[in-house]
Amino acid sequence: MDTLLETVKQEKRIRPEGHPIYRFDPATDLIMDRRTPLPGHANGMAFEAYDADERLLLRRIFYSIGGGFVVTEEELESAKTRTAPKAENPVPFPFKNAAQMLAMAEQSGLSIAEMKRRNEEMFMSRDDLNTGLDRIWSAMRSCIDRGLEQEGIMPGGLKVKRRARYLHDRLQEEWRQNRMNPLLANDWLSVYAMAVNEENAAGGRVVTAPTNGAAGVVPAVLRYYLHFHEDADADGIRDFLLTSAAVGGVIKHNASISGAEVGCQGEVGSASAMAAAGLAAVMGGSAAQIENAAEIALEHHLGMTCDPVAGLVQVPCIERNALGAVKAVTAASLAIKGDGTHFVPLDACIETMRQTGRDMNERYKETSLGGLAVNVVEC
Ligand code: SF4
Repeated sequence: MDTLLETVKQEKRIRPEGHPIYRFDPATDLIMDRRTPLPGHANGMAFEAYDADERLLLRRIFYSIGGGFVVTEEELESAKTRTAPKAENPVPFPFKNAAQMLAMAEQSGLSIAEMKRRNEEMFMSRDDLNTGLDRIWSAMRSCIDRGLEQEGIMPGGLKVKRRARYLHDRLQEEWRQNRMNPLLANDWLSVYAMAVNEENAAGGRVVTAPTNGAAGVVPAVLRYYLHFHEDADADGIRDFLLTSAAVGGVIKHNASISGAEVGCQGEVGSASAMAAAGLAAVMGGSAAQIENAAEIALEHHLGMTCDPVAGLVQVPCIERNALGAVKAVTAASLAIKGDGTHFVPLDACIETMRQTGRDMNERYKETSLGGLAVNVVEC
């Protein structure tokens, strides 16, 4: 991407596929309108191309609807009216909410990860599923590693500095010098999450888990698991991901994982719940303890708005992922120390998130028209 953008900047020409070469100077020909909202979804973008006489040549609208999905205006409309087709291969554990998930776990005697695995194996072989899970973790790990190597300013104009590498170097130095750090686990969690979100902010490759803005939480907690848990192994990573996916699915289908729909509680809150559930699973938690872990993590993100400064997924998003990861580990730890019984069921917490998101003013849903976005001066 960087090379492509630099070439256009230098040559002042673009070569769209199937078109002749066009004269195009991004410095003068790219005009942004950050204020006009679109009707279909809060997170939309209209592209309009004009010729030298300012005649409109082409107009296309795209919506980023969360979970990594980008759809055209037409696709968004048809998705709103489409009814879900009946599944040809009904899965053995079709839990639609957390209560059903717990009841099926109890009845079958299987873990949440194993139920999710059996559902997925209706569509692919065990080997393919394992390969897919390993590929997801490999992409997450590579993203952390790349983020820990990069330095400099992130693109977009806010001039926000990358910090993950610097913090990582300091942690390693402390480690080498055998210095006591009472916040060791928190610091590593933060550095891993920030590495991923700095990559996201710079247009790097991330795993949507459950969204790009919240992509740092699950990898950070997984890496923490490998770093700090002696018995961590490849099977543990797969169980972690399957459990996270089960919880993420329940949240997505009963509320939302989109900041544009319910605010950041749906993004970082959901990511934190997914990571808490995954960690509780690999720490040997029962289904009830896993559900408890997810609930604690989500509950303490309720009401969190989405207000990225200048519309860039940098401030507060990068640090917010670090905090989401720390909360996930705390939630898993609290749940594991209990017996699984708790006051607020996960389903009630998810429904609360949905209602809070519905009542939330549009200014706090990824529009950058409220919150931090209007109280911090853009440099
Ligand atoms: S503040 Fe908004 S853009 Fe940033 S991580 Fe949260 S939901 Fe995503």
